[in-house]
Amino acid sequence: MKKILTIIGARPQFIKAAPLSRAINESNHLEEVILHTGQHFDQKMSDIFFTEMNIPAPKHRFNINNMNHGAMTGLMLKEIEEVVLNEKPDVVLVFGDTNSTLAGALAAKKLHVKVAHVEAGLRSFNNDMPEEINRILTDRLSDYVFCPSDQSIQNLKNEGFDRFNTEIVRTGDIMLDAMMMFADGAEYHSQILDVIGPDPFVLATIHRAENTNDLVRLRSIIIALESINLNKKVILPLHPRTQKIMEQAGIKSHLTIIEPVGYFDMLTLIKKCEWVMTDSGGLQKEAYFMQKFCITLRDQTEWVELTACGANILVGADTDLIIQQSLKISESTFDIPAGLYGNGHAAKQIVKYLEQCN
Ligand code: UDP
Repeated sequence: MKKILTIIGARPQFIKAAPLSRAINESNHLEEVILHTGQHFDQKMSDIFFTEMNIPAPKHRFNINNMNHGAMTGLMLKEIEEVVLNEKPDVVLVFGDTNSTLAGALAAKKLHVKVAHVEAGLRSFNNDMPEEINRILTDRLSDYVFCPSDQSIQNLKNEGFDRFNTEIVRTGDIMLDAMMMFADGAEYHSQILDVIGPDPFVLATIHRAENTNDLVRLRSIIIALESINLNKKVILPLHPRTQKIMEQAGIKSHLTIIEPVGYFDMLTLIKKCEWVMTDSGGLQKEAYFMQKFCITLRDQTEWVELTACGANILVGADTDLIIQQSLKISESTFDIPAGLYGNGHAAKQIVKYLEQCN
């Protein structure tokens, strides 16, 4: 039996862990121990995902959050190292691009434990983003990199990974696995449509530091959403922290602001909305999976194949551009073929690889 120590800590990682934990559980050759760093810790950002998606309870749970990046990553490194020393896993598995990802990879590598990175090879080429630093370093530390797209593999090759002792595996995107696993049941279990009412709506989310910590950007995004809201109801699940920032800055809105929702509600909202407006990485892909246009409230995206095919329109925080592009897609039909991110069997491929690798 190979022991896999899975490190998770933030909302998108819980969603990605769900299909993988299930696939590991079905394997006769792998066993999983889950470590939750506590980067996201409250009911709406953490616990609800474990309950809804039936993710096994973490054996190790820390409460490391609300700190500067250095302190947070450092404390995680220290705590994860202890767990790696005690659990003696064969592989430490990390997801995405958070501080938990980097801390897990670094702790394992220094102890000569193999590191596997799921959702590897993505680049925004913006080194001001903490996520970009986490991705670059985690990929470089990893023994096995599981890539969701052709572009992610190309990014690694451009950085010389062909010459490194790193196994590059194209698996497709594990978020598609999650969506396929839960999409049917989601609407049945979700009551969100009763909460928001029957009107047609646009789904928006804003959570990245580059937008929530920059009042100029935040204000100009909200002004654009307000304008769209005059004709089409805008539903905005928002962290109370960001709502507080808006209140303190005197940014008023008539949008339908709700608390962050669980995955079942989110899948239902994406399915029923007219289009998506977001700065989230995951939501850009989920919009595409559900054949909805996405207006991306960022200056770069890692998911360049979505902008290339026209499913995703990058607008940054420019009020006029946001309004203008929203109008354009509201009059367009989404007829972009599926298939850019595999077939929803990433978890099975990762498990098969982990069973066989040295
Ligand atoms: N999500 C959710 N509830 C919300 C907002 C997002 O379930 O209120 C889901 C979303 O559908 C996607 C994931 O969380 O699967 C993305 O997480 P987030 O936007 O926090 O991170 P990112 O993808 O930008 O790293």
